[in-house]
Amino acid sequence: MQTLDDVQGVPFIDLADRFGTPLYVYDSAVLTATYRRLRAALNPGLELLYSLKANPNVSVCAVLGSLGAGAEVSSVTELMTARRAGIPADRILFLGPGKGAAEHRMCLDEGVGAVVVESLAEMRLLDELARSRGTVAPVVLRVNPAFTVKGARLTMGGRPRQFGIDEMELMDRPGLLRDHPGLRIRGVHVYLGTRILDEALVVENTTRILDLAVRLAARLGFPLELVDVGGGLGVAYFDGERDLDVDTLAAGLNPVLAAFRADHPATRLIMELGRYLSADAGIYVSRVLYTKTSMGARFAVLDGGTHHHMAAVGIGSYVKRNFPIRKLGPDAGDHQPWQLAGPLCTPNDLLGKNVPLPELRSGDLVGVLRSGAYGPTASPVRFLSHGYPAEVLVHEGQPYLVRERERPEDLLDSQRLAPVVAPVAG
Ligand SMILES: *Cc1c(COP(=O)(O)O)cnc(C)c1O
Repeated sequence: MQTLDDVQGVPFIDLADRFGTPLYVYDSAVLTATYRRLRAALNPGLELLYSLKANPNVSVCAVLGSLGAGAEVSSVTELMTARRAGIPADRILFLGPGKGAAEHRMCLDEGVGAVVVESLAEMRLLDELARSRGTVAPVVLRVNPAFTVKGARLTMGGRPRQFGIDEMELMDRPGLLRDHPGLRIRGVHVYLGTRILDEALVVENTTRILDLAVRLAARLGFPLELVDVGGGLGVAYFDGERDLDVDTLAAGLNPVLAAFRADHPATRLIMELGRYLSADAGIYVSRVLYTKTSMGARFAVLDGGTHHHMAAVGIGSYVKRNFPIRKLGPDAGDHQPWQLAGPLCTPNDLLGKNVPLPELRSGDLVGVLRSGAYGPTASPVRFLSHGYPAEVLVHEGQPYLVRERERPEDLLDSQRLAPVVAPVAG
């Protein structure tokens, strides 16, 4: 295996010395290559949105935005992030089952492309709000389809869910438009699952979603301006998984998209992707503090752990499976199984179990690869009051600190000491 020394010529050791560890490092060249490869392969009529949930760093978002991605956001802060990253409001969809009046107001203020409504009750609320402002809110109906498609690691559709409005329920409401004069229904959104690694499944999902969208628009009587076919494209993390093949995906998907566009030339087609666009561009870098053996097992205790990388504990599986993990810098020599423990006082804080690595010594750097999605934001970063790690983006050969490490003051200053004890000096 080739040694892993640097990002765009910037050595990991320099990044670690300059910015400290533990550290997330993002590579803009990988973000760019991943986006461009997919963009070039898929029907140009398919718009790509970046789902900020996967990695909401404003600079990561800005790289993808600069390449032409729109955004799919699910909180006020994500909306502000996407705007600050330079993504035009009309290329943003706001989605999520628990949007309240504050979120709706902000969507109207900003002029987002559409609010993806997830329940009839939410539609009523947004309808009232829009009418009270004398405006009409653009919305997309998120549908919980009656069908399910197997093969995603997390499936939606065909079962009770808090997401979307049941297909049956919508089909039973031909008066839906008339009842909501404050809404302009622009289209249909369906999201069928995440971590999909089977190209044929994406094609099947998309085919069924397009069919559903056409039936629904006809039944309810709105012009189908757009269909968001979800996404959920995966990346391989574990032994036995393989990455999606973009050419195979395109060969299956493009004819479906082209046929739809031929029949519905005025309808925009949208796919939203989080993990697929950001995962491969990130490495979680931590430093070995100590090595020890316990009952014959080799442990390296790292300064980083699962509080920054919860996914490394294991995704959707009871058996621990390791993310790809490498020693950074020289890694010659015999590989032996290592237990990679973090600093937390829980036995679950293992970034990797029995990871084959060369001899590790105090000060060595270890990298968890493919960590650009669902990293720190999806982790209990404040567990044991360690706080958020620093994040660095390497762009055109230059490292940029794109998120400061949380300091003890940051964690303490937001707390208030109630008058339960006499204040301690200092
Ligand atoms: C989480 C989510 C995404 C992003 O999923 P990935 O698997 O990271 O691509 C997209 N759309 C919706 C509705 C989601 O909930």
